[in-house]
Amino acid sequence: MRVAALLKQTEERLQAAGRDRAAVEWWLMHVLQVDRTGLLVRLSDELSEEEAKRFEDGIERLLTGEPVQHVIGQAPFYGRSFEVNRDVLIPRPETEELIDWLLGQIHHVANDEIVDVGTGSGAIAITLSLELGVRVQTVDISPEAIAVAKRNAESLGADVRFYEGDGLAPIADRSIRILVSNPPYIEADVLLDETVVGYEPHLALFGGADGLDMYRQLISESVRVLRADWQLIVFEIGYNQGQDVKSLLSERYPEAETGILKDINGKDRIVYAVREGI
Ligand code: GLN
Repeated sequence: MRVAALLKQTEERLQAAGRDRAAVEWWLMHVLQVDRTGLLVRLSDELSEEEAKRFEDGIERLLTGEPVQHVIGQAPFYGRSFEVNRDVLIPRPETEELIDWLLGQIHHVANDEIVDVGTGSGAIAITLSLELGVRVQTVDISPEAIAVAKRNAESLGADVRFYEGDGLAPIADRSIRILVSNPPYIEADVLLDETVVGYEPHLALFGGADGLDMYRQLISESVRVLRADWQLIVFEIGYNQGQDVKSLLSERYPEAETGILKDINGKDRIVYAVREGI
């Protein structure tokens, strides 16, 4: 069968099974090792037997609801490709917006002044390290996640320090000027789509009864690691957590300017505190 017909037929199979048909093209580009233009060029070709078998194996996994990023083993984030598996959250486009905003805020930063807590695949820390040209500190409670993040840092050539532990506990000194985190923030009883809850680590998703446990913990621990001239605390948040997290921050840091930013879908997604007078 020609590539064009195979693509159409397979997209229909996925759609009939209630899955995302866009995954088919993404997976096929990976099997053929081509970009979208490369795929167009091959539309009237036949797949080799080996390619067809590999393609179908992946399609079977997509039909069961496995995320395409797991089938490929990689996910794009801020123009780079990150290894992902069941031990880490798949980086989300909303988090790329967080990076965009952060890069606009950070003007002067030196090695080890940024910490990313709950780094997972390392997407935030590695991107900041590469974009800013500094060493970034990271913490994650999961040794499996740290293993993935280390491989990503290595393959992308990023300068990142890894600590295994809970919250900010492993950060010993007052070295931090910028604290970033996309912690687990889903409320305990929220039902997520099976493609998320069946494949991504619950440790990275659920943040206690009201989803705010990690914000409380990090804000309380932050007083111990932030330098007197700290600049910025930034959290990714759930769409309904903006006011709560902003209040937690302004209670602890009344002198700071706090704010809530929306994502591209118009949902509250980022809460920040900026120390005044900088
Ligand atoms: N944004 C993720 C989701 O909607 C949740 C990520 C998180 O809890 N930090 O599945």
